[in-house]
Amino acid sequence: MLRSYYHEHPDSLILSTEVADARPGRVALATSPFYPGGGGQPADRGVIRSAAGELAVIGLEYAEGTLWHRLDGQAELHGPVEAVVDAAFRRTMRQLHTDTHILNAFVYQSFDGALVTGVQMYEDGTARMDFDLPEADNDRLRALEAPINEVIAQDLEVRSLYLPLAEAQAQHGLIRSRSVAPPPTADGMIRIVEIVSLDRQACGGTHLTRTGGSPPIRILKIDNKGRHNRRIRIGLAG
Ligand SMILES: [Zn+2]
Repeated sequence: MLRSYYHEHPDSLILSTEVADARPGRVALATSPFYPGGGGQPADRGVIRSAAGELAVIGLEYAEGTLWHRLDGQAELHGPVEAVVDAAFRRTMRQLHTDTHILNAFVYQSFDGALVTGVQMYEDGTARMDFDLPEADNDRLRALEAPINEVIAQDLEVRSLYLPLAEAQAQHGLIRSRSVAPPPTADGMIRIVEIVSLDRQACGGTHLTRTGGSPPIRILKIDNKGRHNRRIRIGLAG
């Protein structure tokens, strides 16, 4: 499968599927709605329902191209199952992930193409982004809160497209991160996430389909992390 289910169907969080492979305490599914983690976005949580009952998914990991769902307990599942992603957790991550793109767009535009050096989203509705910003004035960074919230209020469309990796690398500003870039898909394409009229960048995470799906954000804190890095912490308001 070239395209991930969580990319193609971000709103489909309950999926009837089948066990593709199993070991005690872990299972691979024919199709999985779970986001495996990456790019600062933690892996989805949720449960798998089967004839053995309902088991929590406590982690996800790739091994030799197979996505394994680690289960709470040592059950070995077989046959048809229902995979259920934790909807509240996924919604928070989609909101934060989209909001980090908006922040990133404004930092990139306002601070001379400053690149991302790190990003992490948290279950409590906060996220931090690190930028290579040796000279930036923290008051100017703090002032980005208002235009970020304007973009949320404008309810802009968010969509994805795929470009060949070489083409994405050739387009200035599409690969925005110093540290993490999404892996190309099996067919050598790289996923681009576009906030229409604002920003395009390579990303493999899960996002909203419109910016208005996020509550307003607040810029909570700005720290200097070393000589070059500025760390901006945002939080979902309300
Ligand atoms: Zn993203």
